[in-house]
Amino acid sequence: MSQPRLTLQDLYDGNQRFMHGNEPSNIDRHVRIDKQEPPFLLFNCADSRLPGSLVFSVPLGNIFSSANIANQFNEQDLNTKSVLSFAVDNLKVDHIIVMGHYGCGGVAAAIASPPKGDISAAGITIHEYIAPIRRIYQTTERPEIASYREAKAPIPVEDPANEDHDYRFIAYSRDPALYSTARALVEENVRAQVARIATSELMTEKFNSPDLSATGVFIHGFVYELETGQVYDLGVSVGRPGIVPHMPFPRAP
Ligand SMILES: [Zn+2]
Repeated sequence: MSQPRLTLQDLYDGNQRFMHGNEPSNIDRHVRIDKQEPPFLLFNCADSRLPGSLVFSVPLGNIFSSANIANQFNEQDLNTKSVLSFAVDNLKVDHIIVMGHYGCGGVAAAIASPPKGDISAAGITIHEYIAPIRRIYQTTERPEIASYREAKAPIPVEDPANEDHDYRFIAYSRDPALYSTARALVEENVRAQVARIATSELMTEKFNSPDLSATGVFIHGFVYELETGQVYDLGVSVGRPGIVPHMPFPRAP
């Protein structure tokens, strides 16, 4: 017997159970093994402190997911592009969710200055990968970020003289301006990914399709608070014009 198709309200209810430690103690593996019909696609960060789809505490078979550093989507990246294509075209998901998280190291590293001089191959790879977030930091007009950027000298990536200059401490800096900047950039990064998905070739085709089933596809931007387990909505949902889904998640503070 197939399970009832879950909605955003079910995700919200599941997140409430997760936050309060009321999630079922055993994962129910009694799902269909011949086919998956998930209503949700989740793009989230690879951070080990972010328990991915577990934050929604819904049965297996409901969330198709993809994780990378700082929950990015890029049409030039075959990985994220194929995940989106398969989820939308084959699995017919109803909701595409980009979920960032406060305290994201990938986002914090984009605030630090690019490294100069000798840098390892691994370091180069990561800095190339987060380059799109660095561009958001350098160009956004979001007040918290713009005022910080204009007032401060660039932060060296690794400055042994001051741990606040290390990207690992930027995310939870004791400097209130830097702390707010890091949180705001997490949100702006999610907004940028939602916009990128919405304007991708695949979604543009879907939103313009006469196929009525395409009306059910929405893209949402969420952010997760590591300390509390709460998922917030950023109010940037996108769908076919004129259709607004009910959003049970509270807006980000
Ligand atoms: Zn992260």
